[in-house]
Amino acid sequence: MPREAIIHSSDDDSFDDRNSNNQDDLTNENATDSKSALRRNAEEDSALRPKRMDEMIGQRDVFERIKITVDAALKRREPLGHILFDGPPGLGKTTFAMCIPAEMGVDFQIASGATLKAPKDLIPYLTNATERSVLFIDEIHRMQKAVEEFLYPAMEDFRIDLTLGEGVNARTLNMQLKPFTVIGATTRAGLLSAPLRDRFQMREHLDFYTNEELASIITRNAQKLSVGMDDEAALEIARRSRGTPRIANNRLRWVRDYAVSRAHGFINLEVANKALEMQGVDILGLDPQDRKYLDTIQRVFAGGPVGVEAVAHTMNVSPDTLVDEVEPFLLRSELIVRTRRGRILTEQAIYHLKAINRK
Ligand code: ADP
Repeated sequence: MPREAIIHSSDDDSFDDRNSNNQDDLTNENATDSKSALRRNAEEDSALRPKRMDEMIGQRDVFERIKITVDAALKRREPLGHILFDGPPGLGKTTFAMCIPAEMGVDFQIASGATLKAPKDLIPYLTNATERSVLFIDEIHRMQKAVEEFLYPAMEDFRIDLTLGEGVNARTLNMQLKPFTVIGATTRAGLLSAPLRDRFQMREHLDFYTNEELASIITRNAQKLSVGMDDEAALEIARRSRGTPRIANNRLRWVRDYAVSRAHGFINLEVANKALEMQGVDILGLDPQDRKYLDTIQRVFAGGPVGVEAVAHTMNVSPDTLVDEVEPFLLRSELIVRTRRGRILTEQAIYHLKAINRK
């Protein structure tokens, strides 16, 4: 049964460690190398992730509202109301979800909507939930309908209805749960049913970070990774990180490796530029996949309008990857627009592709 262990608020690294357990299927000759590289990345991810709310940078409006509810819940000694975070990947949904129980000094558990296929998958999480603890459900939009309906009374009245036996002998058992908090995260708020959405007292949308906010995150994380860097370089990496802390951390790690290998371990503007160019990251922060998406719409579909499925098939990637990971930043940067007839490239995108191809 897909169930994560209860994590006590003091076990800071437990969540990130779980990412490093997903590597058992590496069987080729390089498996050991890849495994240790993945483990190193997972460990670094854990080291870079803020552990307390005060370490979080950006998202000030959301941050202030969460601080107030956490403070009020602590003062009233009550569980926090259920909270839903939505927004593109890598913007801090999980980080918020982990910092909140740390702030409150309560236990938390982590589940993934994709692995909750039947109510029985959810039962252990609910029965294990301790007083005022947090149950974080990532990708909550992927939860099956039956699981969702099973969750309703748990969220509303801290109660579940278990059906025992079958047919005429079936009886329903009411089970009382400890008062607890569900924190849901989704990249697709639109896919959530209205009854589920309405059961969250707070719904918070996370938006892209400013370059200055990302530069602060990068500067702080360079210190954590023990690499020297100047402010210009931090801002340049920030500009090329698509407004997303996870991407900023990945870019920083690559630039750090490049600096160690080619530049005596110090990151200045020139080193940052060279490292990012080598990775195919352009001045807008777009990587080869982003440009391939724009280029496909331009070349194959004459600039659009075109449906996302058609673009995905031509690129040989899943439409979900495009919708979740590629399109949000391109939309926000006004490189594409979404119309009822499909995606259309903007003048700005055509100009950008021309400029890149001229190089
Ligand atoms: P999501 O759950 O939205 O996909 P995460 O919370 O896993 O994103 O964030 C990805 C990484 O970005 C984290 O490991 C953390 O290092 C960094 N990060 C996210 N939000 C912040 C923030 N507000 N301040 C500093 N770092 C952050």
